[in-house]
Amino acid sequence: MNPKYRKTIIAGNWKMNMLVSDVKPFVEELKGYIPKTKTCETVLCVPAVNIAAMLKLGKEARIVCGAQDVSKYDKGAYTGEISASQLADAGVKYCIVGHSERREYHNESDMLVNAKTRALIEKGICPIICVGESLEQREMGLTMAHINYQVRAALAGVDVTMLRHCVIAYEPIWAIGTGKTATSDQAEEVCREIRLIIRDMYGARAARSISILYGGSMNAKNAAELLAQPDVDGGLIGGASLKPQDFATIISATGADNE
Ligand code: PEP
Repeated sequence: MNPKYRKTIIAGNWKMNMLVSDVKPFVEELKGYIPKTKTCETVLCVPAVNIAAMLKLGKEARIVCGAQDVSKYDKGAYTGEISASQLADAGVKYCIVGHSERREYHNESDMLVNAKTRALIEKGICPIICVGESLEQREMGLTMAHINYQVRAALAGVDVTMLRHCVIAYEPIWAIGTGKTATSDQAEEVCREIRLIIRDMYGARAARSISILYGGSMNAKNAAELLAQPDVDGGLIGGASLKPQDFATIISATGADNE
């Protein structure tokens, strides 16, 4: 992390877990553990049905509400979709795009990830753009080439001003929900590479300012070591974000103190 130049962000991804009635007890419990800090932004990307409750109740624990998906369209006959305008109107500040589960189970292409990214930026929502290689790609030595392709594709048509509203998350697919975490060296190596790609595309200042997160089985035990890496500016956390005490421990591992 380098809090002098960029925001530290711990973002939870609840995926398809938790009921509306679970939000209050979760926030109440989290409040008891969470450090009162301004140095780390705490985001929870919740299922769409939980957004209203999280916006209302999350403030007490300084939680910023995020979404998990968005339509590339702005309005119209797209049954089941939610637009960036609707998310912005509700008060959502962040939204995950390009998560490997959506790429795999919903066949989301890099072009679609790019369209969603631009739709969000246009409405003032910060996309958390997920990129990451499969185990097969890693074993074949294709990690950096794949990351390079995904980052450039997601950011096609995004200019340097728009980039200020983006976050990138490096999420090796083999580490998501598997309990297999990347080593801190592996996480740093790819996050540094992402920063170099951004430097190549947008220049040194943009590269120094963009927050790059690591995601993939980050938990209360391994967070401190991963977050200590110079190019890892926070985490995208699935499983551990469902447990208030573990999630708070990860936030504390950013070095966030009570103020
Ligand atoms: C995720 O879903 O983005 C994720 C990183 O999940 P987990 O922490 O459970 O591996």
